[in-house]
Amino acid sequence: MSVRIVETIAAVRQELDRARSEGASIGLVPTMGALHEGHASLMDRARGECDVVAVSIFVNPTQFGPNEDYSRYPRPFARDLALCGERGVDLIFHPDVPEMYPSDTRTSVEVTKLDAHLCGPFRPGHFRGVATVVLKLLHIVQPAKAYFGEKDFQQLSIIRRMTEDLNLPVAIVGAPTLREPDGLALSSRNVYLQPDEREAAPLLFRSLEAARRAIEDGEDEAASAVREGERLLRSDPRIRIEYLQIVDCRELQPLERIDRPVRIAAAIWIGKTRLIDNVAAAPR
Ligand code: AMP
Repeated sequence: MSVRIVETIAAVRQELDRARSEGASIGLVPTMGALHEGHASLMDRARGECDVVAVSIFVNPTQFGPNEDYSRYPRPFARDLALCGERGVDLIFHPDVPEMYPSDTRTSVEVTKLDAHLCGPFRPGHFRGVATVVLKLLHIVQPAKAYFGEKDFQQLSIIRRMTEDLNLPVAIVGAPTLREPDGLALSSRNVYLQPDEREAAPLLFRSLEAARRAIEDGEDEAASAVREGERLLRSDPRIRIEYLQIVDCRELQPLERIDRPVRIAAAIWIGKTRLIDNVAAAPR
């Protein structure tokens, strides 16, 4: 079956109500397009677990700050469509901005505290935009399962918490980060990197791994493990560190002592490109 492309909320409902009434389970993969193998891994997972796979492609303006890359964010729709076709996606929801946000929308969702650290302080309003658009997509598509990448660990945590707090009837599935052979996490934003910037980019993952190894070798002071990671990042003048933090893996609060499973997460700038990544670690 070829992929159906729908652009309106009414058309999604019409398409999927029929499937649901026949007892089909629906899996949703929300994306902003510029699809890569990381997105495809979520589609494959959904294909294996659900009868109908829906992918949303929507560059959500409300999650971008005024000086961020909303207008230049890549939008290669024909290529995205081809990838969805190859991966057996049934339906692409590709709304425009007025369809998702008629002029007078006033409601938004905020998941407090989980946005207090990591990317939150550097991207004010970002997670409110993310939570709100994901809640809208969940209401529009009404999937049994929705798939998100651990690449955006703070986003995944916030969506899980929103789903719990608001009793949404959907299972949130988190999936591992796909990487280039040199460790760089796949990201739609990697296309922004100039060739010499691309050379520096794998240091992000290597620095997280250095911090992880320190913890697994017995380091229990977060500050020391952070220093281990930052030392590598500082070795390259092309990199500017936004943050490298070690947080509790559920509450996302920074820890002083590493006495439980943690997430090590960082954001860096290389030239005009902001990259994020994270890894899990646990004390011995
Ligand atoms: P985006 O289009 O960047 O909003 O991402 C859509 C979904 O794909 C999110 O749930 C991301 O966490 C996930 N994703 C992005 N990059 C990767 C990756 N390298 N591996 C796995 N999932 C990813």
